[in-house]
Amino acid sequence: MQDRFIHCIAALPTSLRDAILPILNQDFAGHIDAQQIADLCQTTGMTEKALLIGLLPIAAALAKPPISDFHVGAIAKGKSGDIYMGANLELSGEALCHSVHAEQSAISHAWLSGEQKIVDIIVNASPCGHCRQFINELVDGQQVNIHLPEQTTQSLSHYLPYAFGPADLNITEALLTKQQHGLDFDSADPMIIEALDHASLSYAPYTHSYAAVVLETQDGHTYCGRYAENAAFNPSMMPMQMALSTLIRHNRDLSEIKRAVLIESSLGKISLVGASMDALHACAPVELEHIVVEASD
Ligand SMILES: [Zn+2]
Repeated sequence: MQDRFIHCIAALPTSLRDAILPILNQDFAGHIDAQQIADLCQTTGMTEKALLIGLLPIAAALAKPPISDFHVGAIAKGKSGDIYMGANLELSGEALCHSVHAEQSAISHAWLSGEQKIVDIIVNASPCGHCRQFINELVDGQQVNIHLPEQTTQSLSHYLPYAFGPADLNITEALLTKQQHGLDFDSADPMIIEALDHASLSYAPYTHSYAAVVLETQDGHTYCGRYAENAAFNPSMMPMQMALSTLIRHNRDLSEIKRAVLIESSLGKISLVGASMDALHACAPVELEHIVVEASD
């Protein structure tokens, strides 16, 4: 088991602790599939809602909040039945706008894993206004169920009445709808190819600034993030923040980053290069490789 789970495991009910231990192996990065969830419910005798709330301390153990020291864990359950954990990330010494909230982390985890719809969000503290707006960008966002400990489950429409979302700007393919943008760049570099693939899947209906970041660690592993915009502009999720959140979820340290690539579309209304450099330089002494690629849409 990874060291970061030692404290939270001790606080779990015995039956859940025994059942979850084999899942928390060295490769665990917050994903539990639908069959494993069904097995955990059966083994522990817990309802699925009780189980998912019971797993929140494990999600919170994925947090890295050096500024607030406030660990928030969130779980996004996809239409597939799989669950995706996320946690807050703060960049030491850097402006608070560079932070990632737990719900954003969990949703981006699901998106990067290929989910095309989120049905439930489980979180250990009431979602802030920023996260309510971020969830509202999702496919059928108003219907996403929000589960909190000791609270009646309510849909997002309860937490965010009179919402402003993608439909108000005539966007019919909301966040998590499969995107496929035409981006063209000739390279044999695997990291650039990976970043290009993710940029083509990014969500930027308001600026068309399709973008992605890939980070490489000393041992050659790579961690990616795609750009995810919001109808209200803030809270959009920057690809650098998503990549950093992915890397931390995989139990890696920011000091292990040795290379960083940002791919952007040539036709976008904005550039993310300045914001991406600021966030990267708060984490690692690595220069950002910035590549602008030809776009056909
Ligand atoms: Zn939040």
